[in-house]
Amino acid sequence: MPANADPVSAYIALGSNLGDRRAHLEAALIALADLPSTRLLATSLIYETAPLGPAGQQDYLNAVAHLATTLAPLALLDALLVIEQSRGRLRRERWGARTLDLDLLLHGAATLQDTRLTLPHPAMLDRAFVLVPLHDLAPDLILADRTIEQHLARLDRSGVRPATN
Ligand code: ATP
Ligand code: CA
Ligand code: CA
Repeated sequence: MPANADPVSAYIALGSNLGDRRAHLEAALIALADLPSTRLLATSLIYETAPLGPAGQQDYLNAVAHLATTLAPLALLDALLVIEQSRGRLRRERWGARTLDLDLLLHGAATLQDTRLTLPHPAMLDRAFVLVPLHDLAPDLILADRTIEQHLARLDRSGVRPATN
């Protein structure tokens, strides 16, 4: 990492519900660890979760990764899109089945409303499949003036269970 830039904490949400879901997540973690100017600090447990969006999809495997990085937010987003494509990600219908989805949840304290990137991720506080694994990694994180537990208290987390295989 460049000596003159302080790394920030970034959290990435990983999801897969098409093909070999676990292989897609494991490959993504290896690719995240391999990014320039970046260290993979920790990963959550992997959870199996009920899908959002069009009916008839397989359940997801979801996890969250904690990075330390000096990459700027848009540079990190571009890197995430390249990793998705390397696992054969196609974008067809909104929230349709996908081999790999990598969302940038938080990049330090950055707030951003770019056409390509919103930070913090706009839906993260409404998704138990994001907040449960994020809580594994950062139980003391305060988001919008509330703890993760407080956000989770108003969500249905019954569709989020630790993956067994
Ligand atoms: P959702 O964002 O509701 O989880 P999705 O992950 O299915 O939906 P995608 O099709 O993967 O949506 O992404 C659409 C676009 O969202 C991306 O091309 C990217 O430019 C944009 N985007 C905006 N903010 C973010 C963010 N924080 N992390 C990842 N992508 C983002
Ligand atoms: Ca997503
Ligand atoms: Ca996405």
